[in-house]
Amino acid sequence: MTSSSDDTSCVHHPRASLDGFDSFPTPIYRASTIVFPDAQSYRTRGSRIPDGYSYGLMGTPTTRALEASMTRLHAGERSIIVPSGQAAITTVMLTVLKAGDHVLIADNTYPPVKQFAREVLEPLGVNVSIFDPMDLDDLRSKIVRGTTRLVWMEAPGSTSMEVCDMLSIAAIAHEAGALAGCDNTWASPLLCKPLQLGVDVVAEALTKYVGGHSDLLLGSITFADFDLYAKLRRQLANLGVGVSPDDCSLALRGLETMALRMRHVGGVASEFASRLAGMIGPDKVLYPALEGSVGHEFWKRDFTGASGLFTIKAAVSDTSVLDRALDGLNCFAIGASWGGTRSLVAPMSLAGERALRAVDADMIYLRVSIGMESADELWADIAGFVRALDGHR
Ligand SMILES: *Cc1c(COP(=O)(O)O)cnc(C)c1O
Repeated sequence: MTSSSDDTSCVHHPRASLDGFDSFPTPIYRASTIVFPDAQSYRTRGSRIPDGYSYGLMGTPTTRALEASMTRLHAGERSIIVPSGQAAITTVMLTVLKAGDHVLIADNTYPPVKQFAREVLEPLGVNVSIFDPMDLDDLRSKIVRGTTRLVWMEAPGSTSMEVCDMLSIAAIAHEAGALAGCDNTWASPLLCKPLQLGVDVVAEALTKYVGGHSDLLLGSITFADFDLYAKLRRQLANLGVGVSPDDCSLALRGLETMALRMRHVGGVASEFASRLAGMIGPDKVLYPALEGSVGHEFWKRDFTGASGLFTIKAAVSDTSVLDRALDGLNCFAIGASWGGTRSLVAPMSLAGERALRAVDADMIYLRVSIGMESADELWADIAGFVRALDGHR
């Protein structure tokens, strides 16, 4: 038999000294249990919420470091990290909305959010309306003072890439007593800071540019107001939603190179978008930085640059032509999600996706994410792809 003191020694490790040790990375702090120094502090642990540590689910110093970075980049009040970009949006909606409330969602919002509204919010008794983000009169005619609690938008819109007037939409929401929220994933806080335009809450998929390497899923929510932040922190405890410190550590690492990556992919995407517009026509390339794109004036007013994601529209009557063109890609991979070091193409159809804004139902929308490969090789690949879509190669 082993002695009981050996058993205990296996469990109670000596603490290594941190004296003289200093390094750059934020340590990965893992915890379910948080240990309290005495009975009194355990009894009153509720007073540590929402910023402090009381249970691992609500975050460790690794989570808080990432939250603090997002808060500083957005010049916000507080941020919360959640398991995905989708969770960032849905937990905001589940916290702000209750039965009988009304929510307005922009027509070009990330499609899973519209599905969540139909399949989760409506059965809970929340009234959902879709508005045209490029038509402020449409928003004014649908917003209901005292009943509309939230106006949700995304700039630029998913796939179709229109940039809405976030400043005016937030003002219209506030006049009616509603909150304004937006999905800022395309821009990241480096290219747009919606809180400065009057938006109350910003959601982002850190899965994309912050993670930056196609290997993690995380989302962030950044608040202009402390009370809404505290309410959401509590709601996440109710729902039992938390994140892994390992994922937060990867996101903190991704963040360190994000500015450089964004400048690079934004530069390459801008160059490619203009060249492609010259090749196939300006109406076939959807990218906020292109003159004449829908909402280009708001992009110029509110954004400091463009990221690496744009859309090519192609009339493809025969699926085999599309498949052959996609299969002929060398440098670009086929896949959803984006914002990583690897360049991607994802074909989509917007048929049946939009309630208000006209789309070309029989055209294929090819979402292109520029990565970090050689720009010359990428250009040869995409130019060949566009020619192959046209049926000749
Ligand atoms: C990818 C994406 C999301 C969802 O992010 P996940 O982390 O994949 O859930 C939300 N909004 C936009 C604009 C996105 O591109």
